Amino acid sequence: MADTHCPGFESNKALSECTLKCPDCGKEWEIFSDEVDKDAKCPACGGSVDAKTNCVKK
Ligand SMILES: [Zn+2]
Repeated sequence: MADTHCPGFESNKALSECTLKCPDCGKEWEIFSDEVDKDAKCPACGGSVDAKTNCVKK
């Protein structure tokens, strides 16, 4: 078998980053994918953002 993986790949799990965009002020910032289940708070205007619907996977 010539199946090779990058070292450390397994410890990195399935955690990824995604970009959130605030629908109110247009601010974009990054969160981790394990935070998508909760409501995010916009760092610019403080509004609550539904991470699930506003998350853009990279
Ligand atoms: Zn905002």
